Amino acid sequence: MLRIYHHRIKCIGCNYCVEAAPYRWEMNSTDGKSNLKDATEKKGFYIVLVSDDELEDNLEAAEICPVNIIRVEKI
Ligand code: SF4
Repeated sequence: MLRIYHHRIKCIGCNYCVEAAPYRWEMNSTDGKSNLKDATEKKGFYIVLVSDDELEDNLEAAEICPVNIIRVEKI
């Protein structure tokens, strides 16, 4: 199991996370930031639990995010 964090308020809307893992990320046309799909908000962070098979793509998203606001944690 993995926990993915998104510090959404700092998102600059570059779309890279969506390209890396489109099943987990999407752009929000209202404010131009990305949404972490199925996540729930807690103190400004959006958090979701997903299965291990999403590790590679979401690690890539975390790596390429230019503002470093995606974190992937194995639990
Ligand atoms: S890669 Fe980072 S800055 Fe770019 S849309 Fe995704 S979360 Fe936002």
